[in-house]
Amino acid sequence: CGIVGILGQAKVAPRLFDGLKRLEYRGYDSSGICTAHDGDFDRRRAPGKLAHLAERLAADPLPGVIGIAHTRWATHGGPTEDNAHPHIAGDVAVVHNGIIENFKPLRDELIADGRTFLSETDSEVVAHLVDRERQRGASPTDAMATVLPRLHGAFALAVMFKDQPDLLIGARLGAPLTVGYGEGENYLGSDAHALAALTQRIAYLDEGDWAVVRRDGVEIFDRDNQRVERPIVHSGVSS
Ligand code: GLU
Repeated sequence: CGIVGILGQAKVAPRLFDGLKRLEYRGYDSSGICTAHDGDFDRRRAPGKLAHLAERLAADPLPGVIGIAHTRWATHGGPTEDNAHPHIAGDVAVVHNGIIENFKPLRDELIADGRTFLSETDSEVVAHLVDRERQRGASPTDAMATVLPRLHGAFALAVMFKDQPDLLIGARLGAPLTVGYGEGENYLGSDAHALAALTQRIAYLDEGDWAVVRRDGVEIFDRDNQRVERPIVHSGVSS
């Protein structure tokens, strides 16, 4: 339902949580945050209200200056902690808005390939597909270019890699996603509200676009993997 991603200079968990608060108006049934730190992922998820996630974060704070966060409105699999995003497969963490219509054949293919699923969501296939490409030796961008055309349905995605402390990848088809431009930091958000406290400078991705986000800049590609420019506009949503 809602997505926030921060590729930051300073601790991100409190700012990711703030972004989720700003997305509360969209409705949700569970939430979660994953950060990458010292070459590993760390994650807190909770069913129900954001207050539950806040309790877990307070009891056990998340380190890290890069992370992705999600408020979920369940479509496949009940609103449990295991089904809450971010989903992790190997070295890849993913948050997803929308529905992967062909998740069943993809899941069967991945299970036949020896992969174990930990949730009932359609979304988890995305983490496995990207991780499998990485295991096969693909770069993060090549992995995305291979996986995105295999996903049918509607999605906004934010993807993070355990071994890539300076990279977030976003993609959209049939669900909105924006890139936020900061000072030595850059962001992904499902809408301008998610990024309101972080930046006013945003670019709306077009249908089929995907964005390679690094601290020193953002490259946007269209569905044919051609480099494109999307205008940076003033979001008009302030904190
Ligand atoms: N289809 C996904 C799920 O059920 C994402 C739902 C959403 O957009 O929040 O987990």
